Amino acid sequence: MAPSFALEIHYRYKEMLRQGKDVVSFAVGEPDFDTPAHIKQAGIEATEQGWTKYSVTPGLPELREAICHLLKKRYGLEYGPSEVIVSVGGKHAMVNAMISILNPGDEVLIPIPAWFSYAESVKLLDAVPVFVPTRKEEEFQLKAGALEKKITPRTKIVLLNSPCNPTGSMIQEEEVVKIAALAVKHRFYIISDEIYSEIVFDGRKHVSIANLDPKVKELTITVNGFSKAYAMTGWRVGYAAGPRPIITAMGNVQGHFTSGTNTMAQKAAIAAVYGPQDFIRGMVEEYDRRRRYIVKRLNSIPGVSCFAPHGTFYAFPDVSGLLNRTFRGRRVRNTIELGNYLLDSEGVAVVPGSAFEGEGHLRLSFACSMEVIKSGCDRLAKAGAF
Ligand code: PLP
Repeated sequence: MAPSFALEIHYRYKEMLRQGKDVVSFAVGEPDFDTPAHIKQAGIEATEQGWTKYSVTPGLPELREAICHLLKKRYGLEYGPSEVIVSVGGKHAMVNAMISILNPGDEVLIPIPAWFSYAESVKLLDAVPVFVPTRKEEEFQLKAGALEKKITPRTKIVLLNSPCNPTGSMIQEEEVVKIAALAVKHRFYIISDEIYSEIVFDGRKHVSIANLDPKVKELTITVNGFSKAYAMTGWRVGYAAGPRPIITAMGNVQGHFTSGTNTMAQKAAIAAVYGPQDFIRGMVEEYDRRRRYIVKRLNSIPGVSCFAPHGTFYAFPDVSGLLNRTFRGRRVRNTIELGNYLLDSEGVAVVPGSAFEGEGHLRLSFACSMEVIKSGCDRLAKAGAF
């Protein structure tokens, strides 16, 4: 499998930091906020009370009940605990779903630009990733028509990710409705990765495709988790909700590979569901403030243009105006070379768009302080001024 570009760049940045170099990073995809105190406390108490043993493989029944409550309250989704599985992060839930569904040669439609882990996981299972283009002019919003063109009798899964990492785009509701109709007509599964569902801007509302009608719900595995919404990346609690036979198969897979996720983290996740939720609003307001700032700064750099992301904490600027140019005597032909140049010469870590099948762009995470964002934008502006 190819390594994760974003992690590699982040580790290079960390190493430069360790060597005392003046560097800032836009590379990492995790909230810079700490896990709220009441959630941490629940984890501590669970540990002290002896919740340190294996949990049942699909997750503590009380957490699965809590997740059903959350899905109903937030997105109108109706599931029972036996239709929910708790995994070691949303990433793990997604891969478990793929292992449970895919046979060698099956095709998986992946709208691009996309998170790099999707195609790598599909290939590992000897299935075939089929990329579905989205258009920069449409802010990378997936259109059902583009998806339909790629459907074949071998199409087994369509992967949806709205809001999307890396573009920050969301699929418009009327397109979600059309995609649901395609799934029912052609009988493919949908894995809907909704990990960024709470991080949306400008009054937009996240739509869960499984909520559209019972026929599409039967074909959908909704993946979500606590990492982004509750700033709990290191706790490793994610989940999937879907048709019982698939969830049961995922439990069988998980039973052999990892067993249940760690028990005290599951107790903390229960506290996250039932505790105060205003933390999320505060976090999203802060992301929004940073989003407006970074987009404005990026658009003021010659050779760079950036639309305002609809959700997530990523900006995805078009930097094609900086390519095929020479900076400080160094030729920069593509975004990998641009990323290396920016880190080596300007001390700013970014992820090249080619890592997401989005050449010509960079992914900049604004899950970092305003101070880092300001300094990072100054460095990019310096590079753009050549
Ligand atoms: N899906 C997408 C698109 C992501 O960007 C991530 C994390 O970066 C995940 C899923 C998985 O998150 P976790 O495994 O921490 O729940």
